[in-house]
Amino acid sequence: MINVTTTFFPPLSEYNAQLERIWKNEWLTNRGELVQELEAKLCNRLGVQNALLMANGTIPLQIALRLLADKGEVITSPFGYVATTASIVWEHCTPVFVDIDPATLSIDETKIEAAITNKTTAIMATHVFGNPCDIEKIEKIAHKHDLKVIYDAAHCFDVLYKGQSIFNYGDVSTCSFHATKLFHTGEGGVAICNNDELFGQLNYSHKFGHDGPLKFKGLGINGKMSELQAAMGLTVLPYMDEIVSKRKAAVETYHQALNFDKLRTMEIREGAQWNYSYYPILFENEFQLLKTEKYLQANQIIPRRYFYPSLNSLPYVIPADVPLADRAAKTILCLPLSHDLPNHEVVRIANLVNESLNSRP
Ligand SMILES: *Cc1c(COP(=O)(O)O)cnc(C)c1O
Repeated sequence: MINVTTTFFPPLSEYNAQLERIWKNEWLTNRGELVQELEAKLCNRLGVQNALLMANGTIPLQIALRLLADKGEVITSPFGYVATTASIVWEHCTPVFVDIDPATLSIDETKIEAAITNKTTAIMATHVFGNPCDIEKIEKIAHKHDLKVIYDAAHCFDVLYKGQSIFNYGDVSTCSFHATKLFHTGEGGVAICNNDELFGQLNYSHKFGHDGPLKFKGLGINGKMSELQAAMGLTVLPYMDEIVSKRKAAVETYHQALNFDKLRTMEIREGAQWNYSYYPILFENEFQLLKTEKYLQANQIIPRRYFYPSLNSLPYVIPADVPLADRAAKTILCLPLSHDLPNHEVVRIANLVNESLNSRP
C-alpha cells in the first residue's frame, strides 16, 4: 500500500544517542538543552533571527491570536486545514472568509479590503502547501488598516520568498512539526517573530507566564516542547536536504508523467523557492476526482483529499460566499509524495491517474 505520505524515521541508534543526553541531564522539559539546541539549529538552517519551539503547530496560532487579535474579526482563507479556522474560533475571534486565487490556492489579496470592518483586528492567512500568499500586498493592506498579520506557515519548512525565509514575514509566522509534515518532531511546532518585544510575550505566554520560578509576567498557558520531541527533531534535521531532494525528484517525475489535458496543479508564486511538500492535482469536476480516487484505492494507492471540505462549511462558522474555494476543495486530490517513493512508483501512480481520466465513465 502506498499512502499519501510516509513519516521519516531516522536511524534508531542516532535517536538513542540524543536520548542518552536526556538521561544524562535528567531533564525532560521546561526549555531544556535539546530544545534550545534545536531552536539554534533551526534559526541557522532557516535563516531566521529567533524560533520558539512549542508542543504542536496549533498552539502558536492560538497564542498569536490571543496576543494580537483581541477577540475581533480575523480575515482568513477558506481553503486549508481545519486547525487555522478552529484556532480562530477557539480563541473567541470570528473568522471572516475571503475567497482564494484558484491558481495558487492561497487567499485572494484583492478581495481582502472589501472584508475589513471596524471589528477586524488581524489577517491570518495560510501559505497552502508551502506556496506563499502575496506577502507584499497583504503587508500593505495590513499597514493601511492597522491590522496584525499572522501566517499559518505550517507547510513551509525550507520555503524561501525572494531569497529569504518565508517565516520572516508577518507579525508572527508558525510552522507545524507534526509527523505528517516535511520536517517533524512527532508532534511539535514553532513560532517565529522578528519583533523582540512580541517574541518575549510569545515566550512567556507558552510557559504559563513564568518570569523565573516565583514571578509571573502575565497570563500564559502550556505550549512547551519537551526534550523527547526535540531529540527527534535533532535526529531528523541532518537528513532534510536529502529528504527534500528526493521529493523534488518525485515532483518532477509527476510533472512529466501526468497528462494535464484534464488536470491542473497549483502554480507556485513567482519569487518563491518551494519545498515539494505536497503534490495536489485539480480535476475538472468532483465526479472525475471520485472516480480516480477509487481507481487508485483499488490499486492500493491512498491519496488524500487535502483539503476537504472548505472551511467556510464547518458547522461552527458563518458560511460565506466563496465559490472558488468550494470548487478547489471539491476537486483537489493530493497524490502520494515522500522521501521513499521510488521513481517507478511515481510513474505507475501517474499512469493510473491518466488511465482513469481517459476511460469512459
Ligand atoms: C498541520 C497543520 C496545522 C496544525 O499543526 P499541528 O502540529 O497538527 O497542531 C495548522 N495549520 C495547517 C495548515 C496545517 O496543515
